[in-house]
Amino acid sequence: MSKPKQYDSIVVGGGIIGMLSALQLHAAGRHVLLVERGATGRESSWAGGGILSPLYPWRYPDAVTALASWGQPRYPELLASLLRDGGLDPEYRPSGLLILTDDEVDAAQDWARRFSIRMDSVDASTARGIVPGLGPDRGGVWMPDVGQARNPRLVKSVRAVLEAKSVSIREHTEVTGFISRAGRCAGVETTDGEIHADQVLVAGGAWTGGLLAGLGSTIPVEPVRGQMILFRGNADFLTRMVLADDRYAIPRRDGRIVFGSTLEHTGFDKSTTDEARNDLQAVARSLLPGLARFDIENQWAGLRPGKSDNIPVIGEHPKLPGLFVNAGHFRNGVVLAPASTRLVADLMLGRPPILDPTPYAIHP
Ligand SMILES: Cc1cc2nc3c(=O)[nH]c(=O)nc-3n(C[C@H](O)[C@H](O)[C@H](O)COP(=O)(O)OP(=O)(O)OC[C@H]3O[C@@H](n4cnc5c(N)ncnc54)[C@H](O)[C@@H]3O)c2cc1C
Repeated sequence: MSKPKQYDSIVVGGGIIGMLSALQLHAAGRHVLLVERGATGRESSWAGGGILSPLYPWRYPDAVTALASWGQPRYPELLASLLRDGGLDPEYRPSGLLILTDDEVDAAQDWARRFSIRMDSVDASTARGIVPGLGPDRGGVWMPDVGQARNPRLVKSVRAVLEAKSVSIREHTEVTGFISRAGRCAGVETTDGEIHADQVLVAGGAWTGGLLAGLGSTIPVEPVRGQMILFRGNADFLTRMVLADDRYAIPRRDGRIVFGSTLEHTGFDKSTTDEARNDLQAVARSLLPGLARFDIENQWAGLRPGKSDNIPVIGEHPKLPGLFVNAGHFRNGVVLAPASTRLVADLMLGRPPILDPTPYAIHP
């Protein structure tokens, strides 16, 4: 005899993508269970910088811009609602993003015009006006509307809202396989037994490819390590985010400054290295020489869900109807999360999708 379903939807993975997906499904009236192998919000979504824009956004495919531009104007209200509904502040800060670049200003501006995004080209002296204390004598582009959230607080605030809304969460439970019944996904196998549901959503970050490997279609998501360092700065030292040569500084409200990040293909190894710390510190001091007077308070690493074309996978699995995937956001999981989680919820609920889902579909 087949087991009765316990939930409408199971979400696998308690990062920003899984938690916001669970919230969307709950808001639509689904009875949702979130299953997390460890504790929620402790992997990539905890480690990230929280810049609410892709870095060098003009370099990305339009499919990434489409998701980012849907979410960016909605982010301030989303973060305000998290604070309202859960009581924890994700620390939204509309700090703007200065990008130093010598030869990409035209490409950047063409892109910004095409997508109606506010961006000014700036010379070296204007750049210094925006970020006093800048080391290099370089211009670039200024994006005044780019904000940030503080990752560890963001994931805690989403978790608090899930709890406030009584969404079921099962931590320290690893999903090890999928239950198939009459050709459809009917739940998950876990280290704590089977759990049954009408639909399953996998939002397993860098681990998604491995989890789905047995099903036949390759989900090309691989871990890419990113290391960060944290300066104990003060609130007056830096108020804008600044990016140059793929390294960035993010000033938090309390004066701390996150500086990152490395891009390393080291498998699932999440350890930090002295080499990265020294390299990040040296680059930080040449970008913002005044940082030399602040101590490094912390260093950490996270595993991004890397995908070589940068386009996340969002959709139903072609080999197992009822199983959905939302993963592979690589360097942009926070900025893409509102659109990506809304889109997957639309597909799971049979609602008209906010965006054409074709570019994100899983290839059979
Ligand atoms: C250093 C760094 C800087 C970054 N900066 C930015 C930025 O400024 N802006 C931005 O938008 N993005 C940034 N990112 C990227 C962003 O953090 C990620 O794209 C995003 O967090 C991915 O979210 P996720 O929920 O898919 O993955 P994760 O947060 O990794 O969550 C996946 C979860 O699934 C769980 N899981 C995996 N397998 C199983 C299983 N079998 N059973 C149960 N649970 C499972 C894991 O334990 C984990 O909790 C950065 C990332 C890093 C590392």
